[in-house]
Amino acid sequence: MNDIRAIVGEAACKSGPDAARYYEDPRGSFTGKDCVVVLPETTEQVSQIVRLCNSAGIAIIPYGGGTGVVAGQLSLDSDAAIILSLERMNRVRSVSPDDFVMVAEAGCVLENIHAEAERHDLMFPLSMASKGSCTIGGNLATNAGGIQVLRHGNARDLCVGIEAVLPSGDVLEELSPLRKNNTGYDLRHLLIGSEGTLGIITAASLTLKPLDPEAVTAFCAITSPADALRVLRALRTAIGNRMNGMELMSGFGVGLVCEHFPTLRNPFAGDHPWYLLIDAAGNPGVRDETEAALAECIEKGFIIDVVMAESEAQRSALWSLREHTPDANRKTGAFCSSDTAVPIGQIDAFVSGTHAAIAGVHEGLRTNSYGHIGDGNIHHNVFPPKGIPKADFLQAHPGIANGVRGAINEATLALGGSISAEHGIGRLKRKDLQEHASPSKMTVLRQIKQAIDPKNIMNPGALIDQSACAD
Ligand SMILES: Cc1cc2nc3c(=O)[nH]c(=O)nc-3n(C[C@H](O)[C@H](O)[C@H](O)COP(=O)(O)OP(=O)(O)OC[C@H]3O[C@@H](n4cnc5c(N)ncnc54)[C@H](O)[C@@H]3O)c2cc1C
Repeated sequence: MNDIRAIVGEAACKSGPDAARYYEDPRGSFTGKDCVVVLPETTEQVSQIVRLCNSAGIAIIPYGGGTGVVAGQLSLDSDAAIILSLERMNRVRSVSPDDFVMVAEAGCVLENIHAEAERHDLMFPLSMASKGSCTIGGNLATNAGGIQVLRHGNARDLCVGIEAVLPSGDVLEELSPLRKNNTGYDLRHLLIGSEGTLGIITAASLTLKPLDPEAVTAFCAITSPADALRVLRALRTAIGNRMNGMELMSGFGVGLVCEHFPTLRNPFAGDHPWYLLIDAAGNPGVRDETEAALAECIEKGFIIDVVMAESEAQRSALWSLREHTPDANRKTGAFCSSDTAVPIGQIDAFVSGTHAAIAGVHEGLRTNSYGHIGDGNIHHNVFPPKGIPKADFLQAHPGIANGVRGAINEATLALGGSISAEHGIGRLKRKDLQEHASPSKMTVLRQIKQAIDPKNIMNPGALIDQSACAD
């Protein structure tokens, strides 16, 4: 550790109570061991630290904003690793409006990247409820999704170049804004989604987009997820790829948000079984076209009622209902939060199939289903029966969180889905991946890990089973 302190300085190493927040999980489901936290300021410092760790065989856990929900940024078993936080590497190195590219360091908080893009009359469309804390390095390492994937894609689709420190300490410099570059394996895509197991992302070239002159947000009351699919089809036909996102929210979930955050309110007078939050943007006319398409959906009986945001304040109030959902789930005592995806056309079968599977694990469980219906990615948050505190329930049913996760996985896979839609594998789903991925896929994943990180120092225990790696 003394050598590492010499690289970054005493003040940039934290431990004990000073470092407590780095061991916490945003949902309170895990607690990491109290590893030393190191905060380098430059790519050169990261490289020197990694070289040292490589020769000494010290494990490194890259850390961005700590908002990951699959325990990828936590050391659950050992305090011998170092947590390498990128938070001091938070500079925007350049913005090139002609290239529509921003080069940002990995520790830049997503919301700050949005603000910087807007200063240049541009936007960076990756967005999610954790945008005030998550970092672009973490977003890329997890290939995050969020609320505008329908139109703009995942983090992977918004990154044209990457700089990373490899497990050897060598720096991979691939930050060029080139849109075409067919020169062999695209290492950028190998690092994106690798969850810190192949290297430390230190900077990225991000794709910016022009600001949309007109935007429209609508909140719709609907009867079922099947109707949500009908609305999705109708809107895609009417406004095409100007649809930013479509979020499904259960009536139960909206009720929880309003209960825990009394300043927020459901804009409809009465309660409805399901709601859809729809966001679209583009050239002038997109609002009228969206309104016309929604009116047609009402006529056809796909939508019960619609509220259109008439101002930025109303738009933000509607989005607040969605963005406060994860917190409302936590406050209600969710003990299992799923993140699986199915083909969009299977959403209705997915919701009914998984609800039945959850009830099969324990009859009294309550479920809030919500999420990115336009991407086939609905999250279930599962709570104990009403009136039973989470801690008491888990004590009485110790294996139930795994049981529910397993039931949701099985129902997802039966519909041709994926056990991780956007949160990644981390430590939470490592065994699930091992169980459900094909043997050929697991073999190649291990071979890649072995080739790039033969000493297994980069985030060991995340994504791939370490002992299986050594086979
Ligand atoms: C309220 C809430 C809402 C969320 N909504 C969404 C959502 O809509 N869509 C979505 O996809 N996710 C969502 N998430 C999950 C989370 O915000 C994302 O996974 C995010 O991308 C993590 O970024 P981070 O900077 O916090 O990374 P961390 O949590 O710090 O790390 C996550 C993983 O990335 C690795 N890592 C971090 N930085 C680097 C780096 N520079 N180089 C290499 N590896 C690194 C870590 O080792 C770890 O494995 C949500 C989380 C919360 C709490």
